[in-house]
Amino acid sequence: KLYNEVQELKGNIRVYCRIRPLLSGEDTKSTVIDYIGENGELAIVNPSKQGKDGQKMFKFDRVFGPAATQEEVFSDIQPLVRSVLDGYNVCIFAYGQTGSGKTYTMSGPDSLSKEEWGVNYRALNDLFHISRSRRSAVEYEVDVQMIEIYNEQVPNCLFFNKLTFGIVSRSQASGLAIPDVSMHSVDSTSNVLELMQRGQANRAISATALNQSSSRSHSVVTVHVRGIDLKAGTPLFGSLHLIDLAGSERVERSEVTGDRLKETQHINKSLSALGDVIFALSQKSVHVPYRNSKLTQVLQSSLGGHAKTLMFVQINPDVKSYSESLSALKFAERVS
Ligand code: ADP
Ligand code: MG
Repeated sequence: KLYNEVQELKGNIRVYCRIRPLLSGEDTKSTVIDYIGENGELAIVNPSKQGKDGQKMFKFDRVFGPAATQEEVFSDIQPLVRSVLDGYNVCIFAYGQTGSGKTYTMSGPDSLSKEEWGVNYRALNDLFHISRSRRSAVEYEVDVQMIEIYNEQVPNCLFFNKLTFGIVSRSQASGLAIPDVSMHSVDSTSNVLELMQRGQANRAISATALNQSSSRSHSVVTVHVRGIDLKAGTPLFGSLHLIDLAGSERVERSEVTGDRLKETQHINKSLSALGDVIFALSQKSVHVPYRNSKLTQVLQSSLGGHAKTLMFVQINPDVKSYSESLSALKFAERVS
């Protein structure tokens, strides 16, 4: 309750920056990070400019440095995730160039251990446990689906699951209208985790000059919650969208041509459409341009209104990524 009131005062769009550590093979001295403040301040330096000219300051709701663990990140957003069970619509995005840690934040690394679980797994697990513990007061029905949006085409469904925490099970699936929905029955968290990993493996991946397994599609995990307050008989509906966006890198850097160029243009178009929608919402504009991309169309009913939005802007601290990092930070600054 208190959390929701605080959020109302602050507005419904929050931006967190997360800086991944330098990986083995990367020069540990070559970081663009100059300063990380306690209250969301971030200073980065341009290695090719000396003195104050080369420094840029940003301010976000929070900045997670390279040492931040998956658990720390999740514990910060746990109240936001749980508000879904009170009937809120929540969208959590990871934005950044390929290799900046989007998938790490949302799903975790390939070698997934429990400590390394990302937001998706932790959120689902948490919702399972909380809805079970409230079962005597509210009966919940939850379904989970994962879709992928590639090249502005009709979303491709990677999986769809219905989870029942209460007694009643309805056969009708609500939510996104997408073809070829496959059903699996799921009765435990570990089942969900397996299916999510299968979905992850199904993502279209293709090599670019930047990264062998660069993801060129947006993946959206959606949790729809329907609850009924057993005492009052009142229904509630909430949703959680967890979005691992396609890489934000620009064309020149990826050295792409042909089909890859077209992909990049589609990605750029949909990311800027997303930026425009969140910007319009942050300005409380009357007109919100949802129709400009598949991604914003799919999310239309869950962005805006009483929805809550959180964006992680992911940063690779390597100096070679300076210009990509700067443009990601500027994108995030605009929507915050
Ligand atoms: P993206 O999805 O943005 O392309 P990844 O999530 O695949 O980037 O991250 C790129 C590499 O960096 C992966 O090897 C990943 O495991 C690693 N990595 C990213 N973030 C972190 C982190 N916070 N801690 C440790 N390793 C990380
Ligand atoms: Mg990725």
